[in-house]
Amino acid sequence: MRNRTCLTLLGVLTAATALAQTEPQKSPPLATVTPPPNVQTAGKIPAEKSPPPLTSPVAQTQGEITTPTPEDKNPQPPFDTRNMDTSVKPCDDFFLYANGGWIKRTPIPPEYSRWGSFNQLIEKNNDALHDVAERAAKETTATGPDAKKVGDYYASGMDEAKVEVAHARPLADELKRIDGVKDRNDVLKEIAHLHTLGVTSLFGFTSGQDDKNSTMVIAQAYQGGLGLPDRDYYTKTDDDSKKLRDQYVQHVTKMLTLLGEEPKAAGEHAKKILALETSLAQASRTKVELRDPQKNYNKMKTSALQALTPDFKWDAYFKETNLPNPGELNVGQPDFFKGANKVFASTSIDAWKEYFRWHLVHATAEELSADFVNENFNFYETTLRGTKQIKPRWKRVVASTDSSIGEALGKLYVADYFPPESKARMLDLVNNLRSALADRIKTLEWMDEATKEAALKKLAAFTVKIGYPDKWRDYSALQIDRGPFVLNAIRASIFDVHRELNKIGKPVDRSEWGMTPPTVNAYYNPKLNEIVFPAGILQPPFFNPKADDAVNYGGIGAVIGHEMTHGFDDQGRQFDEVGNLRDWWTPESAAKFKERSGAVVKQYSEYEPLPGLHVNGELTQGENIADIGGVKIAYAALQKALAGKPQEKIDGFTPEQRFFLGFAQIWRSVQRDEDLKLMVNTNPHSPARYRVNGPLSDLVEFQKAFNLPDNCPMVRPADKKVNIW
Ligand SMILES: [Zn+2]
Repeated sequence: MRNRTCLTLLGVLTAATALAQTEPQKSPPLATVTPPPNVQTAGKIPAEKSPPPLTSPVAQTQGEITTPTPEDKNPQPPFDTRNMDTSVKPCDDFFLYANGGWIKRTPIPPEYSRWGSFNQLIEKNNDALHDVAERAAKETTATGPDAKKVGDYYASGMDEAKVEVAHARPLADELKRIDGVKDRNDVLKEIAHLHTLGVTSLFGFTSGQDDKNSTMVIAQAYQGGLGLPDRDYYTKTDDDSKKLRDQYVQHVTKMLTLLGEEPKAAGEHAKKILALETSLAQASRTKVELRDPQKNYNKMKTSALQALTPDFKWDAYFKETNLPNPGELNVGQPDFFKGANKVFASTSIDAWKEYFRWHLVHATAEELSADFVNENFNFYETTLRGTKQIKPRWKRVVASTDSSIGEALGKLYVADYFPPESKARMLDLVNNLRSALADRIKTLEWMDEATKEAALKKLAAFTVKIGYPDKWRDYSALQIDRGPFVLNAIRASIFDVHRELNKIGKPVDRSEWGMTPPTVNAYYNPKLNEIVFPAGILQPPFFNPKADDAVNYGGIGAVIGHEMTHGFDDQGRQFDEVGNLRDWWTPESAAKFKERSGAVVKQYSEYEPLPGLHVNGELTQGENIADIGGVKIAYAALQKALAGKPQEKIDGFTPEQRFFLGFAQIWRSVQRDEDLKLMVNTNPHSPARYRVNGPLSDLVEFQKAFNLPDNCPMVRPADKKVNIW
């Protein structure tokens, strides 16, 4: 299901906005900044699924391939010089110099909207998960409750004949409930009911850490209720945006038609749904506004929330969701709730019913029959991302299993595929990076002593999580059987929502993870002051036990440095060592930080990945600060690791050069224009080319490693170089 209530994330590392991830892929992890994690998850598109934000301006999509190229299956050298394009000079465009050979010979597989290092590793993990799930499904003897759940869930999804015959019938009870809505009181109850299913409706409601009391969980109400990827998709007036809204109306029409409505009536209903969502979008904050944690922290009594929404009775809402009055809660965007109240009170009962049907079928489309699956793919993947072909069924069912019972699947995965030695080696790397960042903080010329002391305290307090959780999620209360598939997904979602709401008023469990173990990603969560590296990313080309130090420091080292820097980016720096939103900076140091981060915003706003489409320097500033700081700190850590050792060249490159080549290769990718556009509009990460060329053009270490003259495009003038961490 989509729109699952995921933890809280920051708009970070990718998704909805709360965590800071390395790559924007699936649902976000926990969170960072913006309080409610899912703030933007509403439109499911953003971070979920497809991986990273890569881009390749140069990539040509000639013939497309169905399966990854053979090279992906064979062992690769840690850095493969055949991937380079030496006709490009490192002085002009390092991203292409390091990756241009690979880009030239790599078409985007039709089932992807972008293809690169992250995706290749995801495919490798998919094969492993496929194997794990197939074995679990065939197991006839008892192998433990987790394997049984994974096997049953996966088997229910793979039983295509059963899924096809069932069509939308498994939703009958839910659709009947919606048909029975008669008055505004019923509308309220249905909104609450859909929330218990994890289905988008009017606004978002979950639990989350109290930003100013990091030991406690409180209720969180936040903006939401949309079906498009972001509020801007409803409010922009350019031709492309108008066309996309027309296509959205057509999509909603088709989905309602599949539920049995007459096409003409469905078309009218879809327009009303767009109007309703547009009103919500107009009351919503932009993604940039959601980056300000202070502004999104508005703790109040439920009576104060009630005053914001005179027509929406919260007592009835809490009763329906089975929540005792949560006492004080955080209302992320109070103005949104004023607007939502108007929408609630003024929209016709019939329009509400259509909106509920739409969001129910939207949330469950991927687990329904092929007509729903394909129509959903046509709009969310083909129209919005340019993806040409749907993934084979087993990959979609594996993804659904990961999304629904990811820690059960992940437990089986790490048992077979995660070597324990990897954890020890990673801990070493993390400690070396931590020590390099501490050295750097101590010598920062722009930060005063009092702030340095607090920064070092925060750094020393970082929690590090590697591979998989120490304590696995207990799914024993969740019923999973051999079908219908969609009901397994709905029950898993109900289980998740209940799990989240059940935390309200209780102490924070600091052992939880915001990503599943097979995920190819990493994140920093400022609220727990922790950096987290799932098993899925601890493989080549990021982390390669057989590689020289230079390539590992350039790969996973830069990822570690990136996550650490998030603790000190424009959002992360506002949280203290135990995760409280508390200003620990002196005014002088804060002013100097802002001056420098302003320069980062300026630098990236200059980049223009498609004609007329510039990177949003404000939206991406946290990730850009982390990219610049991450590679710089990883380089410093490499220097310490190399000290006193003989410096041999490999393939003609010094360790320093291989460090930067190893860094560039983790971002190699080719991307469709549609996906690139969606990414620039909604994703807090810069496109891949700028994740390489942006940071390196700021680094004197890079200039020196390749002996570049001052007047190179890859060398920013001294007065324009950005240097924070
Ligand atoms: Zn990040």
